[in-house]
Amino acid sequence: MRVNRKPQTAGVYRQYLNAALDLFYPTRCAVCESRSSDVLCCGCHDELPIISGERCDRCGLPTVFDTPVCEGCKGVDYGFDTAVAPVSYGGVGKQLVRALKYDGDFAVARRVMAPLMVGSLVERRYERVVAVPMHPSRRRMRGFNQAEVLAQEVAGFIGVEVSGGFEVLRRVRDQVELSAVERRRNVHGAFRFGGRIKGTVLLVDDVFTTGATMSECASELIRAGAGEVHAVSFCRTC
Ligand SMILES: [Zn+2]
Ligand SMILES: [Zn+2]
Repeated sequence: MRVNRKPQTAGVYRQYLNAALDLFYPTRCAVCESRSSDVLCCGCHDELPIISGERCDRCGLPTVFDTPVCEGCKGVDYGFDTAVAPVSYGGVGKQLVRALKYDGDFAVARRVMAPLMVGSLVERRYERVVAVPMHPSRRRMRGFNQAEVLAQEVAGFIGVEVSGGFEVLRRVRDQVELSAVERRRNVHGAFRFGGRIKGTVLLVDDVFTTGATMSECASELIRAGAGEVHAVSFCRTC
């Protein structure tokens, strides 16, 4: 009986080839899964929807001209002084958020997301870094809070401590199964700071959408004694 050994041989060759490639390219791109010398391949890196050019000084929305307050946030009473994000929420930007949030890929936070976030910051002295908290039950389910992961990495880059221990911002109400309008209403009073904080605080989250969550966290930090709160997220909806 003739035995076709070809597929088996091809499989063995492929294994050797993969092992050899792993020596040179031990990592796979977090977005397209191709072999890459880093957590993001050059092609996906080039496709990152970087927000460049002019933006609103207050909410970070891309604008035609540099403006202290854009049309979108005129009349909106944000709790933070400024908000900024280096990437718009779409394409590779969105996929990186998902890689961190759902795959627990902390390397993308360290290698790609946090450096871009730090690069987007306006030069100023921050006394403390605070992460937008996740409700404890949700945190238990996921095992980590992606905003905390980003806050740790950003804090490491700028050499500032992350707020922790008792003096930490807590989420006292979750937002499960609520409509967008209900979520905006529900976020009011959803956070508590367990102590006192002072100076200029850098507030960190993964995505900025309406700004309601960042705003409510910032208001609570101001109530707890912060002088200024500046928000940074990896992505923003534009
Ligand atoms: Zn890729
Ligand atoms: Zn604005």
